[in-house]
Amino acid sequence: MHNYYKAEIINDKLASIQTQSAIIANEISKYSDISNANVNSFSGVLQQYSSVNEARILLVNPDYMIVLDTFSVEKNKTLLSENTVKAFDSQKSISEYDKDRGCIEVVTPVFGSEKSIMGVIVIDLSTEGIIKFSVEVSQKTYVIKIALITFLIFLAGVSSKMITKAFRKTFDDVDLIAMGHYDKRIEGNGYSELEHFAESFNEIMDKMHNLDESRQEFVSNVSHELKTPITSMKVLADSLNNQADAPIEIYKEFMQDIVDEIDRESIIIDDLLSLVKMDKSVAKLNITSTNINESVELILKRLKPIAQKKNIELVFESFRPVVAEIDEVKFSLAISNLVENAIKYNQIDGWVHVSLNADHQYFYIKVEDNGIGIPEENQDKVFERFYRVDKARSRETGGTGLGLAIVRNSILMHHGAIKLHSEENVGTTFTVRIPLNYVE
Ligand code: ADP
Repeated sequence: MHNYYKAEIINDKLASIQTQSAIIANEISKYSDISNANVNSFSGVLQQYSSVNEARILLVNPDYMIVLDTFSVEKNKTLLSENTVKAFDSQKSISEYDKDRGCIEVVTPVFGSEKSIMGVIVIDLSTEGIIKFSVEVSQKTYVIKIALITFLIFLAGVSSKMITKAFRKTFDDVDLIAMGHYDKRIEGNGYSELEHFAESFNEIMDKMHNLDESRQEFVSNVSHELKTPITSMKVLADSLNNQADAPIEIYKEFMQDIVDEIDRESIIIDDLLSLVKMDKSVAKLNITSTNINESVELILKRLKPIAQKKNIELVFESFRPVVAEIDEVKFSLAISNLVENAIKYNQIDGWVHVSLNADHQYFYIKVEDNGIGIPEENQDKVFERFYRVDKARSRETGGTGLGLAIVRNSILMHHGAIKLHSEENVGTTFTVRIPLNYVE
């Protein structure tokens, strides 16, 4: 690298001296000759140039006699150097870098009028200073490079330490959570990638927390619901036990009550089992191409006797024949629950209208009634497990509060959607939309 600098600088210097030498030769050639008088008139300028550039300038006449020496040592002496002779002979400028002497020499002919050669200018420049300068430059560059590399290594060290520290902190937080501190969350630490990771991780933890809470709530609800009939049975059995000579009629009546409670317990367990089945993976769906018209008609036929008890008119209106890919058992369970609710939460002489329609993508089932309706504030919650608007009424009608949760799960498993529209004391409409073709 050092040699590269040196060569570059020497080449530059050589080129600049060649140019300046040509300019000087041109100036001198304006004089008629290089007699003492003329030389005296331009020697001042050359002297100045010589001292500024630390160069020695000689002017040699065709007799090889030095007529001007800016170092004033060899004036009037003869100069028969190789380059001078060459320049006079060839009448061309000669340039040379003499490595051994450590100098640059440029010899330029000065032409007078009629193109005759008046003399030659010899410019000698020591390259010692130039080399010294190039060594200094290369040394300084080297020092700067070392300093820069050291600084970069230091910077890399510091930043990697900072990043490692941030990672350590994040991993410590994760470890703490894994050890069971589920309420703990990863704190942000200013690194966008880690922040992003922390946000996603915290989101997952929040979801798991909510899931865990809803699971706990479900277990507590299940226990409560299952316990109620058992408590009633115990009360009934205890009161029979406490009556020494209870008449057979009382026994029969109490036993019937106990059987009713067992039936209720069994309904709750059946509903719970349906719900658990619905919660399982989608792979459990047994999809077949089904005639929906027939399927709905069968559901209504089975529910007709319950409707007749309250003299409720049950009407099915189909706008077109529909065949769709569904799990018939789970689909029927959902539609039965909706129609059963429309009958249960209705009035004597009421009506329930079920309609079926389809477009090229979905089929739609609407279950409409003119029953008691659902107050607006309860409408969001009716799909929750065990949620009942009027507990006492629901119990009376044999409701478990699981029906709509089963309906929703079944529809979602079919990639469908359910909408509710209801007005208190006017009626309720549930609209179900299910894709005609099931895509996993
Ligand atoms: P349940 O076993 O109590 O019927 P569901 O989950 O089927 O439970 O329904 C939840 C609650 O929504 C019911 O308790 C009832 O208060 C209300 N509900 C459902 N369907 C209707 C309807 N068609 N008309 C009025 N209220 C309804």
